[in-house]
Amino acid sequence: MRNEKLKEQQKTVPCHYCKQEVEMGVKRCPHCGTHNPSMNVKRAMIWTISGIVVLYLIGFILEVMKG
Ligand SMILES: [Zn+2]
Repeated sequence: MRNEKLKEQQKTVPCHYCKQEVEMGVKRCPHCGTHNPSMNVKRAMIWTISGIVVLYLIGFILEVMKG
């Protein structure tokens, strides 16, 4: 389905699972049904790293508080 250029007006991203275009910020991919299809690998990686850093900081703070 590439005969429609109109969809360029809408912000779409490729689904990280099935690679079909989905609207930015949709909860589920309309093609394959995966959750948060617009959440790409890069963003997921940033979230993962952020989580690790936060956990590391909490551990560090607890160590400091122990003395
Ligand atoms: Zn999909």
